[in-house]
Formats: sequence, C-alpha cells, structure tokens
Amino acid sequence: MSIAENIKKLKSELDPKGVKLVVVTKTQPNDKIMEAYNCGERLFGENLVQELHEKQEQLPKDISWQIIGHLQSNKVKFIAPYISLIQSIDSLKLLQEVNKQALKNKRVIDCLFQVYIADEETKYGLDFNELVDILRSPEFTALENVRITGLMGIATNTEHQKQLKDEFEELHVFFEGIKSSFFRDKDYFTEISMGMSNDFAVAVEAGSTQVRVGSSIFGKRKKISHEN
Ligand SMILES: *Cc1c(COP(=O)(O)O)cnc(C)c1O
Repeated sequence: MSIAENIKKLKSELDPKGVKLVVVTKTQPNDKIMEAYNCGERLFGENLVQELHEKQEQLPKDISWQIIGHLQSNKVKFIAPYISLIQSIDSLKLLQEVNKQALKNKRVIDCLFQVYIADEETKYGLDFNELVDILRSPEFTALENVRITGLMGIATNTEHQKQLKDEFEELHVFFEGIKSSFFRDKDYFTEISMGMSNDFAVAVEAGSTQVRVGSSIFGKRKKISHEN
C-alpha cells in the first residue's frame, strides 16, 4: 500500500477515538515525508537532533516537530527555537536545560515525561517514584519556560497482547495519579503518548491520546542504527 493509503487506514482507526497521529519520520527521505505532509499530516517525530535539524530547515515551516527519542542535554540548544514537543524528558537535569534554552528563545516548550513501563533493561525513562520526586522538588516548581502536557511510554517489544495491555494500562493509571496529585487544575495536562506500529491498537484501547507510528506508514526502515 502507498503512504497515503496507509495513513488513511490508520486515521480511520484513530480519528473516531480522537487519538492523534505522530508520524515518525526518522531515517525517511524528504520526498516520503512530503507524501505524508500532502495527506494533511503535520505532527512529525524524530529521535536524532542532527537529522531533525536538517529536515526542519528543508521542509515546510508549518510542521510541528517533536523529539521522541532520548535527548542529550548538550543538544537541546539546537532545537529550542522551533521544537513543538519534547516527548522524552527522563531527568530533572534535562528539563532544566530545556527550560534554560526556552527562556533564551523567549518561549515555553511543551514536554512529556517519559515513564518506564517496559520489561526491558535498555529503555530510557523514569519510574513512578523518580517522577514524583521531580514533581515535588523546588527545582521543578521554579521552571517557568517548560510546560508538562503529559506522559510518554514505550512498551516491551513483544507480541504478547496481555503484557502490552498491562503496560499501557499501567501508564494510564500513572497518568491519572500524577494528574490528580500535581496537575489537578491544569487543563493542559492531557496527553498519554503510547503505541507504535506493532502495538498502537492495544495502546488506544488502554487510553492513548497520541500514537507514534513509523513503519506502518513508510514500510520497514532500512537503517536501524538510530533506534532506541
Ligand atoms: C521509532 C520510534 C517509533 C516508531 O516505531 P514504528 O515501529 O516504526 O512505528 C515510536 N516511538 C519511538 C520512541 C521511536 O523511537
């Protein structure tokens, strides 16, 4: 199927549930990305700063670029002028750097905390207690140029539907707990980013508000060295 057909099929499953599609464009050339753009898609996710930066310069300026992969503090300054969402905040130090660079650019940058839900050692992310510690800290409360709009999680790379369901439901429960404890009167704390090509249907059932989908749209990626 073509990129346009793949997007149409995905949207027919996501739109009725009000779930947003973040098109994961990592490793894809600009002509393929433009096919998605020409279908009306505007939310695009990348996980490498260098690659994102080149695409941002070359592609239309009304694209909302998001970082979905692990972000190093020393790279934040390159994307701070234009990034629309950083999905992968996994430390207070990183968030403080985002705040500093956002201030320099006179803007507020939306961020998600990446929460660790997978049964794998290699994934980045915070566990529930680490996240609560950050949210309680005076250092966090002092940050004025970042806005936390929700949580993101990556499930275990497994075909096991019950395990996926449990992990996504765990993130949903985390989200509700964090919302009622720390963001009760904040109407912008709304996003649960979960679900990728292989597991988005399970994630949507468990309450995802935005899925991050690459290979179901563009086909299997050739380069996999950038995965995380
Ligand atoms: C690559 C990536 C995706 C998309 O994966 P697909 O299986 O191609 O849909 C989603 N989220 C993150 C964090 C990724 O790095």
